[in-house]
Amino acid sequence: MPEIQADLHLHTKFSDGTMTPTELIRLCVDRGLKVISISDHDTTNGLPETFAAAKSYPDLTIIPGIELSTDVPGGEIHVLGYFVDHNDSELQKVLQTFRDGRKGRAEGMVKRLGEMDVNISWERVKEIAGDASIGRPHIAQALVEAGYVEYPKDAFDKYIGREGPAYVERMKLTPEDAIKLLLHHGAVPVMAHPTYSESKSDRDEVGSLTETLAGLKEAGLVGMEVYYGDYTLEQIGYLKDLADKFDLIPCGGSDYHASGNPNEPEPGMAGPPLSTVVALRAAKDRM
Ligand code: AMP
Ligand code: MN
Ligand code: MN
Ligand code: MN
Repeated sequence: MPEIQADLHLHTKFSDGTMTPTELIRLCVDRGLKVISISDHDTTNGLPETFAAAKSYPDLTIIPGIELSTDVPGGEIHVLGYFVDHNDSELQKVLQTFRDGRKGRAEGMVKRLGEMDVNISWERVKEIAGDASIGRPHIAQALVEAGYVEYPKDAFDKYIGREGPAYVERMKLTPEDAIKLLLHHGAVPVMAHPTYSESKSDRDEVGSLTETLAGLKEAGLVGMEVYYGDYTLEQIGYLKDLADKFDLIPCGGSDYHASGNPNEPEPGMAGPPLSTVVALRAAKDRM
């Protein structure tokens, strides 16, 4: 296998990762990466620091990114947007509404936990999240601190996974909406982690992936993740065939969060060939 030089799926403190962009970039450079994308959930607030920090590493290419969450019956689909423009004020207004929705929903989950006599304080969760786009990993961290679970991932299995007793839904953006929003704002839409991931145990196969992809391609989807996180060679092969079938750019990355979970894929442990970066750039140039 050729060495992995691109990792197009990374999170920072600006959403549910725990590293600053500066720390993460340094780690990526140390691990030999040449192209990375910071793709935080529902926010581009980490991008100014990302670009500032990247000035120290002229050989490193940054693709500005974002990851949007959408709901489909029985599951969720995440859509990455590459070459997103963080200075687009119209887009910022929309992202703010997504983050507001995250906040109310997180508070709802803390309340549900309390009703189950699992007591973590909303104040503490907000403190852990800081200015970030708040997410379940912040609640999971509070549950670890309070001793209810050993690792953040156990909080998903026990309480806040989709089937968990304290799970609360949030706003319903469809994947088609997310794709249209990204295209409208000049970002290249890519479907994230289309199938089961071992390290994120509540993440099942997107129901009838072939049908879903056909619909999303119609809506303007440009790529899909193939080289993702802990995917096995078998999963990668299956997804690469699907990407080829639908003429989607095969993307990928580690989805690193520095989460503290055991066996978390690290930057550079998964990623696409550099030809993917060329294809994404060309897709952006055609927009
Ligand atoms: P949210 O965006 O609030 O719905 O939370 C989803 C985030 O939680 C994902 O982006 C992952 O970072 C993390 N996550 C989801 N499922 C799991 C899991 N089973 N174990 C650990 N982390 C997870
Ligand atoms: Mn996440
Ligand atoms: Mn995701
Ligand atoms: Mn992600």
